[in-house]
Amino acid sequence: MEIKAMYEQLGISRAVYEYGERVLRDLRPRFDAIDQMAEFNQGKVIAAMQKNRVNATHFAATTGYGYDDEGRANLERVYADVFHTEAALVRPQITCGTHALAVALSANLLPGDELLSPVGAPYDTLEEVIGIRQSQCSLREYGVTYAQAELTPDGAFDYDAIRAAINDRTKLITIQRSKGYATRPSFSVAQIGEVIAFCKQVKPDVKVMVDNCYGEFVEALEPSDLGADMVVGSLIKNPGGGLAPIGGYICGTRECVERCAYRLSAPGLGQEVGANLGLMPAFYQGLFLSPTVVAGALKGAVFAANIYEKLGFACVPGASEDRHDIIQAVTLGSPEGVIAFCQGIQAAAPVDSYVTPEPWAMPGYDSEVIMAAGCFVQGSSIELSADGPIRPPYAVYFQGGLTWYHAKLGILMSLQKLVEAGLVQLPE
Ligand SMILES: *Cc1c(COP(=O)(O)O)cnc(C)c1O
Repeated sequence: MEIKAMYEQLGISRAVYEYGERVLRDLRPRFDAIDQMAEFNQGKVIAAMQKNRVNATHFAATTGYGYDDEGRANLERVYADVFHTEAALVRPQITCGTHALAVALSANLLPGDELLSPVGAPYDTLEEVIGIRQSQCSLREYGVTYAQAELTPDGAFDYDAIRAAINDRTKLITIQRSKGYATRPSFSVAQIGEVIAFCKQVKPDVKVMVDNCYGEFVEALEPSDLGADMVVGSLIKNPGGGLAPIGGYICGTRECVERCAYRLSAPGLGQEVGANLGLMPAFYQGLFLSPTVVAGALKGAVFAANIYEKLGFACVPGASEDRHDIIQAVTLGSPEGVIAFCQGIQAAAPVDSYVTPEPWAMPGYDSEVIMAAGCFVQGSSIELSADGPIRPPYAVYFQGGLTWYHAKLGILMSLQKLVEAGLVQLPE
């Protein structure tokens, strides 16, 4: 069977397939660079596993309190070595990225302290953690205030505004690497390093946390290489490699990470408790696969930007721009466009391909959101997934793909649905 016939069987018309191949022809040098980055980061992960003498005993399950869990302790040493930090907390008891961030913030801020975001508004779900939107148990309820310095209109750091916002009470700085549901650019690790250096120059004892979600292994350095006191993320995104079924991580200084452990479990218990429930094989192997999985997702993102920008849709990052995370935003300009795109991603999935996603009022978000995900791990966004808040400018945020081939199929299928809905016309 010819590959075109295979795609036809999957629901991709010849015209859409051939348009995709034309776009792909020019992307080979970009893909080579992505492969080289994966090779570098694969080496980094293997070196950390070798240094910590990972062996089969580390894969054993523990239950109950989880005292003396050597597999868990060693995984945390491996993460600390990958991120070049003193310590790490990597746990299935951290339920998601928002939870990891909430633990890191609430562990390191006390009543009377101020949290500052020098990079504009944080991710939607953090608004309730911080108390920007009224919420029970927010930091605000505990007497922690919040300040924000906006980015300049072209998305750069506003150093004057940042300097002005740092005061006696500024205890922790939060920097979000990925754009999340915004159309600002994502920041490179080098840019994050600059803003960290600036803040620590203004106030040497200030601590910096980076929301590292979606950024892991996209570059050769991580924010912890450039002065971040904590980097925080979700294991059902990049570093779980698609195999971790739950979990989050916090890597950073021993001082910060210990406080996080006490906050996560209980004062006095800290890192000593927390059974691994048999998840160690998935956590170790997922981390091992992560650089390759991230490379596949990045190829998908670059392919999508090139497909859609050539059709006249605004893309962030742009088709030829460098990548600092695995997210691709495509502004489709209408609710129908967002819905057709997401329905295409869903239709291309290995799991739940027959269901039709619809917009819904998702907890933690302030507008309706449509989500497409046909995942082995529910809600995993290192697997091919797309989501779009139903609000102007009607942008869809697309990410993941455990393999490049699946990401490619998903993007072609999104285009197929837009063509079928009459929202796009392919060039001759
Ligand atoms: C996904 C994400 C989060 C929150 O993670 P969840 O696992 O969805 O709770 C926070 N910040 C950024 C930038 C993200 O992409």
